[in-house]
Amino acid sequence: MIDRGRLERRIGELARIGGSGTSVSRLGLSAEEQQARDLIGGWLAARGAVVRRDAAANLFGRTGGVGAAVLVGSHADSVPDGGRFDGALGVLCAVEAVEALLDAKMSLRRPIEVVAWADEEGARFGVGLFGSAAVFGRLPAGIADRRDRAGVSIADALRAFGERGDPALARRGAKEFASYLELHIEQGPRLEKAGIALGVVDAIVGIYHARVTIRGQADHAGATVMTARADALAAASEIVLAVERLARSRPDAVGTVGEIAVRPGAKNVVPGECVFSLDLRTSRDLDPFIHDVLAAVERVAHERHVQASIDELAHVPVTTLDPKIREVLRRAAKTVGVDAPEMTSGAGHDAQNPALAGVPTGMLFVRSTGGSHKPSELASLDDAALGAEALAVALRELVS
Ligand SMILES: [Zn+2]
Repeated sequence: MIDRGRLERRIGELARIGGSGTSVSRLGLSAEEQQARDLIGGWLAARGAVVRRDAAANLFGRTGGVGAAVLVGSHADSVPDGGRFDGALGVLCAVEAVEALLDAKMSLRRPIEVVAWADEEGARFGVGLFGSAAVFGRLPAGIADRRDRAGVSIADALRAFGERGDPALARRGAKEFASYLELHIEQGPRLEKAGIALGVVDAIVGIYHARVTIRGQADHAGATVMTARADALAAASEIVLAVERLARSRPDAVGTVGEIAVRPGAKNVVPGECVFSLDLRTSRDLDPFIHDVLAAVERVAHERHVQASIDELAHVPVTTLDPKIREVLRRAAKTVGVDAPEMTSGAGHDAQNPALAGVPTGMLFVRSTGGSHKPSELASLDDAALGAEALAVALRELVS
């Protein structure tokens, strides 16, 4: 049903925007991201879709019947020096699937809206899932004032596209959508290891990001006896191990301290302050996990006579995807000859926002090799074509 040559050509065309070789740098809310929208919007307009950009710079192309729409797509941005497939493949396969239905002269009882979400990666402003959060009313207040390293705010970046600078204006009601489908590369090795091209996502992990500051007492490393110290790094070290222990004690959890800074940072000074990151993820019971980690922070701080403060940066609950839509995707994969396993996503995705807003949501993973968020990430044309075909089959069922 799908046109493999067209898909292959467009993978190359889109990758050239912000790209060189297999590397793509197409940051959220940048001129390159807008060029990508122009290209994608052009394809959709040529097939008679009504194309528009919203106040958060998301691109929509709507075609077909009346009533609540089936929304399908992914994001158009990348991380710096990222690859050709993360996000892009989901948009390309959505366009291809819709074109396949139009080529087959299918009557679309419901409208289909293809979406290219803006700034999913949050690489520039630190706000991930930006465009989808705006549409589903999940952006924190005041977010438009956040600035990139050059001092440009989100509001400024939106105004540069001719928008008003208020992404909250992009908000739409969940009732406008009958369902949401997203295809994405897996970003992990499970499908590759299993030798299977496609997977159906059952849930997306809950994520908690925070910055922890431990304040102790900087002192002379020679003159301060061990019993008189409030060593911020020693306290932080105990917390790092507690994070590891607590994550290991839960079957579906991971916990990472990936950044740590010590002040004043000299070999002959007892560390006075320590700042570190906290990344906690689990596919069930996120809040009890966070609670246990924060209790450990408090306990260690108390025992070691240091002060701990926590700055919460992100707190996205575990997102279970819709069982009916999962079944539609599983059947669609079967139709194209793939017995797709159900799997949990350890990475965050735009699909969380419609799902948490109450839109029945499903995600299809495509096997990818060579890692992700880097130029070596690769979905083969065979796998991409299978994904697009399965997406078309699922769309056909959902719109007719
Ligand atoms: Zn992505």
